[in-house]
Amino acid sequence: MLKIFTYPLPILQSRAQEIERIDEETLSLILQMKQTMDANNGIGLAAPQIGVSKRIIIVKDKKENHAFLNPQILKQSRKKEEDEEGCLSLPGLFMQVKRAKRVEVLALTPEGKEVKIEAEGLTSRIFQHEIDHLNGKLIIHRVSLWTRLLRHFKK
Ligand SMILES: [Zn+2]
Repeated sequence: MLKIFTYPLPILQSRAQEIERIDEETLSLILQMKQTMDANNGIGLAAPQIGVSKRIIIVKDKKENHAFLNPQILKQSRKKEEDEEGCLSLPGLFMQVKRAKRVEVLALTPEGKEVKIEAEGLTSRIFQHEIDHLNGKLIIHRVSLWTRLLRHFKK
């Protein structure tokens, strides 16, 4: 099992590298990522969270964990939804994050097949959260922390 890196480590805030070749090392990394995610009761995980600067994410859909390589958002709905999100790299922190309700994602499967996924609701949220990780973005960068603090102090 791998260790999950937490904020403010620089790798969590930098752009991860594209996967150019799916080799044994990539596949073994994917397997370890799935195990690490399950062991931490996560529903999504990105490679930079285990200290590897590569564009790999794991998304939990119902009971299954799926790995996607070089994922990119092709389209996103104008309609947004706000919901509470947490992150294994920010233990104990939960915040309301606004995300597109639906996204269309283009990615490679571990078998090297190109797939287009249409996701909505929680799955759409997981894709956006994990792809953010590949771009060095965390939930704390998605909300106005200042607004949150002000709201907190007003109570
Ligand atoms: Zn996260």
